[in-house]
Amino acid sequence: MTISDELAQTELFYGVSQEILSLVLARAQPFDLPAGELLLEPGRDNDCVYVLLTGRLGLHFESLDSPEIRELPQGVSVGEMSIIDGIQPSAYVVAKVDCRILPVQRELLKSLIAEASPIADNLLKLLSKWIRDSTQRIVQDRAQIWELTNHANVDPLTRLYNRRMLDNAFPRLLEQTVKGALPLCVLLIDVDNFKKYNDTQGHLGGDQALVAIGEVLKNSVRPYDFATRYGGEEFLVILPNTGLEEGIAAAERIRNHAQIKSITSVDGAALPGITISIGLAMSVTESTPQTLVAAADAQLYRAKEAGRNCVRY
Ligand code: GH3
Ligand code: MG
Ligand code: MG
Repeated sequence: MTISDELAQTELFYGVSQEILSLVLARAQPFDLPAGELLLEPGRDNDCVYVLLTGRLGLHFESLDSPEIRELPQGVSVGEMSIIDGIQPSAYVVAKVDCRILPVQRELLKSLIAEASPIADNLLKLLSKWIRDSTQRIVQDRAQIWELTNHANVDPLTRLYNRRMLDNAFPRLLEQTVKGALPLCVLLIDVDNFKKYNDTQGHLGGDQALVAIGEVLKNSVRPYDFATRYGGEEFLVILPNTGLEEGIAAAERIRNHAQIKSITSVDGAALPGITISIGLAMSVTESTPQTLVAAADAQLYRAKEAGRNCVRY
């Protein structure tokens, strides 16, 4: 098949005369786009329509990491929106396999359309405006949904995950552990003498102490560890792929960071520091979220009995 035949099979040039195809091909050079490479992205100017001669493309809206919206097969063209109204692309287009692509310059395409019919030209501008507006709305809706879902899973005071998120994630993390070689560790953390802290610093001061503990947790664990506000002044941290020794080291690190963390009131005044007690439990094959929390709670009780500001396991 000649490239001219190939082109005649594409969406954009279907039914177009040989004469025009030759004109296009005389002015456009096909190029290879290796798998994984970006063809279009928001924020990057584009002045071509790209015709996919061979291969497959993936379309993503908010970012490349967001779920694929659509797979684009051989014969499609992308980038036409940018051409018609001269605005930047509104989506990410990435090669899913090695692709062969024909770029057709905006000016060439515009002159071909305008020559064919000014009405077609006007109609395209109208339609592209409609499509862009609705794309914009979809992106906004998705962003709002994401935000709402995220709000439902995050504690507003400490910005840690909340109990609801924990209840969702814990069984999954445990299941992965049972399949994997290494256990997970659970740390149940309770602020020491917090009633007294509230009594002396006021409830708002107490809240600031909880914010500080939230920061300590976020900064003391690995990215794939899971730190949650379990309730009130209790926190629960899940450390996946973590043996006992490593778990104790993490708990000691958190305990120490909490002890040296400075706490400030909402108006910036220095407040007294606080300490925490930690109960640690390590998973075994039969563990469930409930047995692990119960075991960590029993250890937390021992830590309090032992005088607070310590780790028990
Ligand atoms: P212990 O060392 O044995 O843990 O003593 P404690 O005084 O900390 O005892 P306990 O854990 O029972 O105290 C919980 C206190 O935490 C009581 C409650 O008023 C306070 N608290 C719970 N949630 C919040 C909150 O969101 N903000 C503030 N400021 N205080 C809270
Ligand atoms: Mg408590
Ligand atoms: Mg307490």
